[in-house]
Amino acid sequence: MKTAIYPGSFDPITLGHLNIITRAAAIFDKLIVCVGYNAKKNPMFTAEERVQLIRNATKELDNVEVVASDELLALFAKKHGACTIVKGLRAVSDFESEFTMSLINKKLNPELDTMFLTAEERFMYLSSSAVKELGRYDVDLSDFLPAEVIDEFKARLNARR
Ligand code: ADP
Repeated sequence: MKTAIYPGSFDPITLGHLNIITRAAAIFDKLIVCVGYNAKKNPMFTAEERVQLIRNATKELDNVEVVASDELLALFAKKHGACTIVKGLRAVSDFESEFTMSLINKKLNPELDTMFLTAEERFMYLSSSAVKELGRYDVDLSDFLPAEVIDEFKARLNARR
């Protein structure tokens, strides 16, 4: 059984993330989405909330599991019997740091490969931080966020105002 890990902060999950999840889930027998606790300072949603939002958005995908972890990714992968880390690349600018991370993870766990999936063109500009900026205005978010996430995202933005 081939298991892959898709790590990130997902604060919140966007349609770009969901696109990578859907495509990776079609390649591997099992995909574990790993939400980092401390990936960003002052996140909008707690790690547990981010896990729940991803579970809601991926409920149709039977082979996707969502967990929060602060463990070193190379060890987390070993513990879960995963052979591959999946990363999404939006632009060349994403590549440099991801390339370095992939070499470090390989060094820490030689059995672990990193697979880069390029973003689909319509999602190339999408990031959680861009959506947070947009959310401050009265913009239709259905092109950016999974339907299951929009209400909670708006409620959280209003509560923070
Ligand atoms: P961000 O806050 O920038 O969205 P995350 O840490 O949540 O970053 O992203 C997790 C992973 O998803 C990273 O590999 C990132 O490159 C990838 N990713 C994020 N947005 C997209 C997108 N729109 N298309 C493809 N991959 C993406």
